[in-house]
Amino acid sequence: MARLNGQCNPPKFQTDPLPAVAPDGAPAGPRAGRFFCYPLGMPRFVPVLMVLLGALSGFGAEAAGSRPNVLLISIDTLRADRVGAYGYRRAATPNLDRLAREGVLFERVITPVPLTLPAHASLLTSLYPPRHGVRDNGEVLGGSVPTLAEQFHGAGYETAAFVGAFVLDRRFGLGRGFDVYWSDFRLHQFAGADPGEVQVRGDRVEAAAEQWLRKRKSAAPFFLFLHFFDLHGPYLLPAAWRGKFPGRVYDGELAYVDDLIGRFLAALAGRGLANNTLVVATSDHGEGLGDHGERNHGFFVYLSTTRVPLLVRLPGGARAGTRVRGLARLVDIGPTICALAGVPPKTGLDGRSLADEIAGRPLAAVPAYSETLYPFRHFHSSPLYALRDQSRTYIQAPRPELYDLAQDPGETRDRAAEQNAVAASLRGQLTKLVAAMQQAARPPAPVAAQVAQQLRSLGYAAGASSMRGVVFPPPAGADPKDRIALYTRFQDALEQQQQGAVAAAVAELEQMAATDPALFSVQIEAGVAWQRLGQHQRAADRFRAALAASPESALGHYNLGISLSKLGRNEEADRELNLAVALDPSFSRAHTARGLVQAQMGQGPAAVASFDRALAIDPNDFEAWLNRGAVRGNMGEWQKARQDLERAAALEPDNADVHQALGTQAFLAGDTGRALREYSLALKLAPRSSSIHSNLGLLYRKSGRHAEAEAEFRKALELDPGNQEAAQALRAH
Ligand SMILES: [Zn+2]
Repeated sequence: MARLNGQCNPPKFQTDPLPAVAPDGAPAGPRAGRFFCYPLGMPRFVPVLMVLLGALSGFGAEAAGSRPNVLLISIDTLRADRVGAYGYRRAATPNLDRLAREGVLFERVITPVPLTLPAHASLLTSLYPPRHGVRDNGEVLGGSVPTLAEQFHGAGYETAAFVGAFVLDRRFGLGRGFDVYWSDFRLHQFAGADPGEVQVRGDRVEAAAEQWLRKRKSAAPFFLFLHFFDLHGPYLLPAAWRGKFPGRVYDGELAYVDDLIGRFLAALAGRGLANNTLVVATSDHGEGLGDHGERNHGFFVYLSTTRVPLLVRLPGGARAGTRVRGLARLVDIGPTICALAGVPPKTGLDGRSLADEIAGRPLAAVPAYSETLYPFRHFHSSPLYALRDQSRTYIQAPRPELYDLAQDPGETRDRAAEQNAVAASLRGQLTKLVAAMQQAARPPAPVAAQVAQQLRSLGYAAGASSMRGVVFPPPAGADPKDRIALYTRFQDALEQQQQGAVAAAVAELEQMAATDPALFSVQIEAGVAWQRLGQHQRAADRFRAALAASPESALGHYNLGISLSKLGRNEEADRELNLAVALDPSFSRAHTARGLVQAQMGQGPAAVASFDRALAIDPNDFEAWLNRGAVRGNMGEWQKARQDLERAAALEPDNADVHQALGTQAFLAGDTGRALREYSLALKLAPRSSSIHSNLGLLYRKSGRHAEAEAEFRKALELDPGNQEAAQALRAH
């Protein structure tokens, strides 16, 4: 490593992009998840389309032939029964209620999976998860799966998306087909947090979309997708809103998002676009709110988390006030929007157009499928599969459940034992459906032979307990019903940790891990808690236990790599991080972490290549810019180093390390004046940094300012009596 003036350390590498809890969006934290033809045949797009266009022109809102704009709004984590228009008496949802009055309300809409990324993949592809292949957060939508945005783009629409959660970041593949995909996240600002919680508040999403609307020049119609994450914890309600709903944080967040939707609709109206825009508002899944013992979502597939609202306001307000009672599905939204906008939909989708329902002609009923693999992949339990028809819910679990929705809309009285024949018939339908999906699905890509070989050479039993496979019928395992109390205890421990009681949390997590070593998420979180306590050997033990349960987890290898590097075992760390990126090439922070380890091993060019890969995935990766700059500086590439560091400074203007690094590069490039300016700035930002004081001292001495140099060395020693550079410099003074 190059040294400033041969005596003091250049800025330290940022080895602390602290242990991501989950790979990019995977729900390791408390909040958490192919081809078949529907048994009742393909949707009848063409006749529906003609009927609808006829109906629209009949209302006089649209000149025949002109196509409406489309606004699709996803209010993440919105339970249908918390909206005023759905009967919630304490609701403060005037804008959604107004949409319902001016449009069509679907009373029973079912999401195929109560997890953010898989559900949005279904919303934007009209396919069930086994067919689009995204079964859990953190996975990537395959490049060959057609998307709704591509359909609209291909039909000449201008397409744009503004998303509020990192879980939907462009790296996960939902951006395909969008001209603009705004997913503006700064992961490094959430160090130590679950990436599943990384978000931007709704007002930023709304403002960005409004700005796009104001600036757009295209005469083409638009397809605009807005995603609000505010109802999903952790809650970021603005101060002005906090006092309005004491003790009702969920209702308060919803009121806030409703207000933002009102603001955006007003902006549309203000631009004269209200009458020729099709507005669709829905959600990816609900929220447990304590029902069935489930606090959030992802663990179960009851209606509390699988029933979502769906409001459709037609251009010109056609069919205003209509309520559709028939069962509908999230996967139906795409074909419905296509039909209403006159865009030919793809064939072979799992969803079908609901345009006939909107026009008052009820469709023959089809059942709704739901699944969650979350308990299987994260909590050593069985996955859950559900099939709902108009009046019943069947849940495939180690102890199957059957609910009569007419008598028991809350799904609280299981009838599986007493209505054995009904349960068997629904199980038969579900089995056929899943078998058809599995048969037509491309099997998930097996781990590449080379990666499998690496896993084996490190002692991991690759494929032994793969989390990647599709599992139906569910393997014998703990029934999630029997694990919900343990899961809640796990969530409590995480909350405790977030509030700073790390030691107490780790004790609790260790206890849980001892009851079942295959509890993957518990092992990972225990490891992360040990990392926070600086106990990297214990952390590594937990990550190894997690990997014993799930050898192909990129998250496990990543965290193990971080701890090994902290223990100074860089070669082992490098092998683990290499596995992490091989298993999940989109895992940008694993590339960055690997670059840091390579830099520490003196492998400059390899480190630069790792940072390159990280930045190709995440151009906002501050640590990658900062450290690539530092490494390039050490390799003598001053100009490139400076460019990298300036990018880092643009992302984080108030970060002292960046200015220290810029100062060092300026000094090495012979620009002492600039070096002094950068170091002075670094010191303003971090006045108690001993190393900045001693570096600044060296610069002063180099410039002949001896008194100032001495003062800096003394200050450096005062702050850190162990600062050798400062001690040595003072002796030489
Ligand atoms: Zn969600």
